[in-house]
Amino acid sequence: MNRCSRCTNLHRMTQATFSDSPSTLFINGRWEPAASGAVSRIHNPADGELVATVSEAGREDTERAIAAARAAFDSGVWSSVPAPERGAFLLKVAAELRERREKFARAESLDTGKRIIESRIDIDDIAACFEYFGRLAGQSAGRVVDAGDPTVVSKIVYEPVGVCGLITPWNYPLLQAAWKIAPALAAGCTFVLKPSELTPSTAILTMQLLQDLGLPDGVANLVTGPGAQAGAPLSEHPDVDLVSFTGGLETGKRIAAAASGTVKKVALELGGKNPNVVFADADFDAAVDNALNGAFVHSGQVCSAGARLVVEESIAERFVDELVRRAQDIRLGGPFDESAESGPLISAAHREKVDAYVQRGVAEGARLRCGGAAPEGEKFDAGFYYQPTVLDRVQRGMSVVVDEAFGPVVTVETFRTEDEAVATANDTIYGLAGAVWTQDAGKAQRVAGRLRHGTVWINDYHPYLPQAEWGGFGQSGVGRELGPTGLGEYQEAKHIYQNTSPQVTGWFADHGKEK
Ligand code: NAD
Repeated sequence: MNRCSRCTNLHRMTQATFSDSPSTLFINGRWEPAASGAVSRIHNPADGELVATVSEAGREDTERAIAAARAAFDSGVWSSVPAPERGAFLLKVAAELRERREKFARAESLDTGKRIIESRIDIDDIAACFEYFGRLAGQSAGRVVDAGDPTVVSKIVYEPVGVCGLITPWNYPLLQAAWKIAPALAAGCTFVLKPSELTPSTAILTMQLLQDLGLPDGVANLVTGPGAQAGAPLSEHPDVDLVSFTGGLETGKRIAAAASGTVKKVALELGGKNPNVVFADADFDAAVDNALNGAFVHSGQVCSAGARLVVEESIAERFVDELVRRAQDIRLGGPFDESAESGPLISAAHREKVDAYVQRGVAEGARLRCGGAAPEGEKFDAGFYYQPTVLDRVQRGMSVVVDEAFGPVVTVETFRTEDEAVATANDTIYGLAGAVWTQDAGKAQRVAGRLRHGTVWINDYHPYLPQAEWGGFGQSGVGRELGPTGLGEYQEAKHIYQNTSPQVTGWFADHGKEK
C-alpha cells in the first residue's frame, strides 16, 4: 500500500469539507454543522485509519432539510424547468463525475475498503446512470386517452411526486444513491439524501458537484448521520411525499410501517438470498468462475450475491472441489494493494455477524470446505477481513441458507431434476436475483421463466443495465429502480379531462324552474 500518496489525497479531501469541526450537512444550498454540534468519525475498514470526520445530524437537522426541500419544490424552481433541460443538467453531472472520477473513486474506496479498481467501475456506472436518466427526461409528454367522445380532450400527464427522502446503504454508497438521485431530478422532484453513516464521503462530494453545476438551492439536500436520528424523519414527516430506501429487510419493514402514518409512496430495495443454479450441461469452467464472482465479489457484500449455489448432483462434487480450490486462492487486501482481488468487510460488527452464520451452520451439520475465519497475517490485523467460505452438505432451513449473511459465504445445495432445481431456487422469502447455467436454450428459458426473482441471468452473473429495471419479488422489496419504471417511481400520473362542449346534464331536475 502506498501510504504517502493516500495521505496526500486524504489531506486534500480534509481541506475541502472534512475537518475536526465539519459542516457536512447540505441544507438549502449551504454547508452546515449539526445543530447539536455532534460529529462522527469514518474509518477505513481495511486498516482502521481515520478517513473523515462528518457532522452527525439529528432530527431537527433533517426536519430543516425537509423544510428546504419542501419550499424548493413548492416554489417550482426545479419542477418548472422544462424536462429536457433537467435532462441536460443530468448529462452535465455525468460529464463532471467522469472528470472527478479519481477523487470520487478514492473516497469510495477509503470509506468502504473496496478495491480502487472496483470503485472506478462504480463511478463509471454512476455516470452511466445519470446519462440514462438525462436522456430519458422529457422523452414522454404523457399520453392522450381516447375518451370515445370527440368533444372531450383526455390526457395523462406525469408530474413529479414532490419531496423525496432517499435512504441508502454502505455497500455501493454512491451507486445506490445515484439510482435514486438521477430519476428524482429527472422527474422534477426535490430530495433529502441520508447515506449510510459508515460511508458518507461520496454523497458529500456529490452535493458539492451539484452545487458547482448550479442546481438551485434546496433541490438537493444531504444529512449525514445514523438512521434512527437522521433517517427516521424521512419516513415519518408529512412533508415528504415519497421515501425510497435501499438497505436491510428489518430496516425496510420499519420504514414502511413509519411511512404508513402519512400514506406516503414507499419504494424498498432490500436484501436477497440469491440462487445460482448450475445444470450438469453448463459450460463447466465459465460456471465455476462465475460462481466465484457471484459469491465473492466485494467480499459478498452485494445484495444480488450468488450466496446459494444450487448444483446438479451429478457434477456437484467436481464443481465444488474446483470452487473451493479457486476460493482458497483469492487474494485479500486493502483498496490500494494491487495484488488484492477482494477487500475487507465493512466493520468488526458485520464480520462477527457473518462469522456467527458460518459457525451456526457448522454446528447444525454443514461441512466447512474452506474459509470460516479471518485470515492470518500482519497485513490483515487492523482490517475486518474474512476468508472466502464454502459450506456444503447444508439443509434447507439452516439460517446460513435462509438468511442474508452479506459476506463471502456460499452454501451448496444439490438437485436431480429441473423441477427440484426450480423449487430449491424459489425456496426463499426473498426474490432479488438468480442465475441459471445450462447450454440447453429451452431449459434456460423455462427455468428463467419459473424463477420468482426480479433479475435472472442466463449463463452469466451480476451484470445490470441502467435501462433495465432492477428490484425484487417477495420480501426483496417494493417497486423498481432503473429503466423507465425507475423514473415512474418519482412521478404521479394525473388525468386531465376537458369537456370542450359543456352541456347541461339534466341529472337533477331544476325544481326551481318547474315552479
Ligand atoms: P441498513 O438497513 O442497516 O441501513 C440502510 C440505511 O438505512 C442506512 O443509511 C441507515 O442509516 C438507514 N436507517 C437505519 N435505520 C433507519 C430508520 N429507522 N429510519 C430511517 N433510516 C434508517 O442496511 P445496510 O447494512 O446499510 O446495507 C446492507 C443491506 O442493503 C443488505 O441487506 C443489502 O442486501 C441491502 N441492499 C439492497 C440493494 C438492492 O438493490 N436491493 C442494494 C444494496 C444493498
